[in-house]
Amino acid sequence: MKILVPVKRVVDYNVKVRVKSDQSGVELAGVKMSINPFDEIAVEEAVRMREAGVATEVVVVSCGASASQETLRSALAMGADRAILAETDVELQPLAVAKLLKAVAEREQPQMVICGKQAIDDDANQTGQMLAALLGWAQATFASRVVVAGDKVNVTREVDGGLETLELKLPALVTADLRLNEPRYATLPNIMKAKKKPLDVVSATELGVDIAPRLRHVHHAEPAARKGGVKVADVAELMSKLRDEAKVI
Ligand code: AMP
Repeated sequence: MKILVPVKRVVDYNVKVRVKSDQSGVELAGVKMSINPFDEIAVEEAVRMREAGVATEVVVVSCGASASQETLRSALAMGADRAILAETDVELQPLAVAKLLKAVAEREQPQMVICGKQAIDDDANQTGQMLAALLGWAQATFASRVVVAGDKVNVTREVDGGLETLELKLPALVTADLRLNEPRYATLPNIMKAKKKPLDVVSATELGVDIAPRLRHVHHAEPAARKGGVKVADVAELMSKLRDEAKVI
């Protein structure tokens, strides 16, 4: 079984995101970029399946600028077998990514796609769902456990108030939630090995899909600065402030 794992290059989760001075977007110049954390979980799951003999090959794919090759190399260092970059400098929105991934999936014919549940930059939580719809595949989102059995996969999802387990017929698409696994750190020898693994670059134009943005960013703003707190002497003062100043009781 071949597994395709889409990985996105995003602003590192430790970076404090700043809005550009003209409010047209987020400042990316000189900012540390990394593999989207949920995609790391997806790569880990696929690599574990290959190690367990359930999968035979793990192919990672990224859509975006040439710098995404670095992200693909991180996934290769975790154990993916080969990588594909669908390269474009056009700003990609989830529908465009889903269309590019569909074109790659049609070429690669995987039995399973494991996406991250969401990208931590746009928080869209759309790409996996759109891709499954475009491919006409079954989908199970927010997976916390994935078990392949023959031509089916059982996916446990954390839902409000408990766990839900779905049985999907392969080929299927799964999106990885936080508790699916704990991704490994890439070791230095594996980082070195990853440099030699195959990484194909295909231009997005070659994939023949319309990736023009459908949404226009109107405005970006930082959250309002928080006002300092005050210390109250006792419960009576707290109650009076809640009643007379905050007017919440
Ligand atoms: P989103 O819908 O933007 O929250 O992204 C959900 C998931 O789709 C991510 O965790 C990735 O697995 C995949 N994805 C989104 N954008 C890209 C991209 N540019 N390249 C590859 N995979 C992507």
